[in-house]
Amino acid sequence: THFGFETVAEAQKEQRVAGVFSNIAASYDAMNDFMSLGIHRLWKDHFVRSINPGTTNPTNPQGWKMLDIAGGTGDIAFRLLDHSTLINCNPASKIIVSDINPEMLDEGRKRSLKTSYANSPRLEFLLANAENLSEIPDNSIDLYTVAFGIRNFTNKQKALGEAYRVLKPGGVFACLEFSGVTNPVFNAVYKRWSFGAIPLIGQLVVGDRDSYQYLVESIERFPRQEEFRGMIEKAGFATPGWEDLTGGIAAVHKGVKP
Ligand code: SAM
Repeated sequence: THFGFETVAEAQKEQRVAGVFSNIAASYDAMNDFMSLGIHRLWKDHFVRSINPGTTNPTNPQGWKMLDIAGGTGDIAFRLLDHSTLINCNPASKIIVSDINPEMLDEGRKRSLKTSYANSPRLEFLLANAENLSEIPDNSIDLYTVAFGIRNFTNKQKALGEAYRVLKPGGVFACLEFSGVTNPVFNAVYKRWSFGAIPLIGQLVVGDRDSYQYLVESIERFPRQEEFRGMIEKAGFATPGWEDLTGGIAAVHKGVKP
């Protein structure tokens, strides 16, 4: 096919995802607050605290080399740099924010100008597909993060393989993603909110029902906690398990490259 090893369906999915994030890039941060009632900020804060980036490591005096995949508008990357600098007093840690979508990266660049990392060599932006990170050498990264990104990837297992390749031995894979609510009553309430209210909010606030409908459906299709953990292990990582957030609406999965 024209798409090399990809099937037509995979190429269509990639285009659809690209369209969704191009449509919503400018309103992405405000809509996140609105739809999650601000809770995504607490999840992201908790995610970064649980990673504790920038801890001093005698074998790595240069600070951590971090890679935030599907980094979008930089929400995770700025938190990782802040934590490393302010909590662990490590101003040498660096991050590459990578995303497949140039509009989302542009929003990230714009936001970075309002932070202390504006034009800093500690912060780089890279346009790349998580399934093919050819710009990043093998065994070169201390921490790979992906937040609310992997469910959009066409070939998730391939992306996990790339995460494994670029991480150093001992390096950490950390993923924050929507997941499965375990309590059936809470699940019923949550489903009503997500399938009913979120596309409607998308329509009323930014005039785009379809993109938000896609986001809700992509959450529903993403593997549940146990299955996703199996995929991380299949890529070669040792996994300690996962942590459910807000009853399983989101979950943190981690893996260490042996
Ligand atoms: N990590 C950010 C956050 O937590 O706010 C942004 C998450 S946003 C919901 C999902 C991001 O995944 C979008 O910026 C989208 O462009 C990106 N994305 C989708 N498919 C991708 C792929 N194959 N490779 C890299 N990024 C991808």
